Amino acid sequence: MAISKSKDLLGQLSQLERTVGEFSFEELNAHEAKELKESFNSFRSSLEKHIYAPKTQQIVPVKLKTDASNKNEVSEKQFIANVSHEIRTPLNSIIGFANLLKEEKLTKAQHKKVQAIQFASNTLLKLINEVLEYSKISSGNTNFESVDFNLHGLLKDVMFLCETLIVDRNVELLIDIDENVPKIVKGDPSKLSQVLLNLLGNAVKFVERGFIKLEVFTKQKNNNEFLIEFSVADTGIGIPPEKIETIFNGYTQAEDDTAKKYGGTGLGLTITKEIIEKLNGEIEIDSTVDKGTTVRFRLPYTMGKPTATPVRKIQKSTFKKDVKLLEGTEILVFEDNKMNQHLIVEQLTQWGCTVHADIDLDKGLYLLSSRKIDLILMDLKMPGQNGFEVSKAIRSHKNSRVSNVPIIAFSADFTEQDSRDCKEIGINDFLLKPYTLDDLLSTILKCKEHKVEQIDFSSILQKPMIEPKETTVVDLNHLMKDCFGEIDMLNELVKLFKLNAIEFIGNVKIHLKTQNLKEIALSAHKLKAGFAMIKANGMRNLIVELESSCKKDDFEKVKELYDVFLNDYPMLEDNLDKDLKLMNKK
Ligand code: ADP
Repeated sequence: MAISKSKDLLGQLSQLERTVGEFSFEELNAHEAKELKESFNSFRSSLEKHIYAPKTQQIVPVKLKTDASNKNEVSEKQFIANVSHEIRTPLNSIIGFANLLKEEKLTKAQHKKVQAIQFASNTLLKLINEVLEYSKISSGNTNFESVDFNLHGLLKDVMFLCETLIVDRNVELLIDIDENVPKIVKGDPSKLSQVLLNLLGNAVKFVERGFIKLEVFTKQKNNNEFLIEFSVADTGIGIPPEKIETIFNGYTQAEDDTAKKYGGTGLGLTITKEIIEKLNGEIEIDSTVDKGTTVRFRLPYTMGKPTATPVRKIQKSTFKKDVKLLEGTEILVFEDNKMNQHLIVEQLTQWGCTVHADIDLDKGLYLLSSRKIDLILMDLKMPGQNGFEVSKAIRSHKNSRVSNVPIIAFSADFTEQDSRDCKEIGINDFLLKPYTLDDLLSTILKCKEHKVEQIDFSSILQKPMIEPKETTVVDLNHLMKDCFGEIDMLNELVKLFKLNAIEFIGNVKIHLKTQNLKEIALSAHKLKAGFAMIKANGMRNLIVELESSCKKDDFEKVKELYDVFLNDYPMLEDNLDKDLKLMNKK
């Protein structure tokens, strides 16, 4: 009975997803946006009411345990997976479309309303994720792994993700890993990421100003066994002493109005504690109201075996001499695509450079005036203010120290017009994506030492295009090399790549409706480098063709290619997952 009712609900949610998919948000007026927000909020609160109610707690983990004995019923695990998928999919669409809507030209009031939709849907998504996670862990349905992984790399990745959560720039994010912490350990990397992201996510939520600090050190060592202590400290609002006792109990928050002010379900810490205890660790919390909170936890690990590939060693030794020359170089990176940005920052930091990424023109000019910047890496095709415009503004700066900093441009394609523009603006060098580490290193060194004033840009135009191939083929070997053989980083990049592809699908769908080929071309351009990186040359060629059809105003062709993309991309993603699984096993 419960299951047929839930199927009914899921069916209606899928219908909602379809409606949202076809809905033309661009035509929304203020009144309609208000109505949408109100109805969404009431949907949210009624769903929350059911989930919070004790009756529903039975439905998720407890009641299903007895149902599972009835072989006509769907198994508990299957049910959880279905609910998770069916509710999350339409919600992701709502979130995705609200994100897209925010990019449109909106009045201030409309913008606020879209933000409200985003907030409500994100809260609901988090709530659903947590309820599902909690039921999985407490019913013993979660698998724990024991694999060798790079602990330092994981900590850096987690901090990278956490940084994207900080909107308030008054909060500083600090990390201190003691040198007694082993680099490679054996344990469960994804559960550790989950715990850290829960705790860091809380810190981000409850800190207005000050800092968030992650400290890691080895508390005990016995031959190959380590007890590692992690602490997440913040200078946030703190928790009253009478609440600390119960804070690890499900659905508990510090104040009655916490959910209203900060959102959340009161489940994060409960899940965190369950995970830590299942991994034979312990957790404690220390907090003072208005001063801050420190959560400490300890987990046992054994020493892992290095998984470095031979490729990595070869790269390091060949590069060693040249790489040394780069140490201490301070570089600005203008690149809007998060995946590429992550990759380039990671590469340059490994070479000992100081990198400033995630910047716009104003921040860039400020850094150029206030610090000794040696070099600029500039993506030419950024949405909004593109790389040509940013370079032009830098070159015309009144301070000659700022205006003369060498600029290396990069892009996934290069036209004759680009060649003329680069020359005229005074860009010094160019890298065609995807470039190799050798290319990147030698180009930076050449520019840093001012060996060439300006390259002959027309020579780049003669570079051969990649042969067309099947649209579902991928090969991760190349990207693995670029990740220095670090599997965690590869996993992270593939995750980002998939998000980019989903964003592309949503974007094109919306812009096809208004025949906005300029926006479609930009979306296609953004995705091209990603396909090149995973060596999906067939699909990359399709995207190249789609982009050029946009430029030729060939709407029918764009639609046709987009349909091929929609058809083939799931197979490509399947191949990508298979390839990634193999890499993880190596
Ligand atoms: P959620 O954040 O989803 O509500 P948690 O279980 O993670 O659930 O946290 C429970 C409550 O503990 C929060 O609602 C908040 O009141 C309090 N809390 C947790 N971490 C912090 C922190 N770093 N600073 C202040 N309060 C915190």
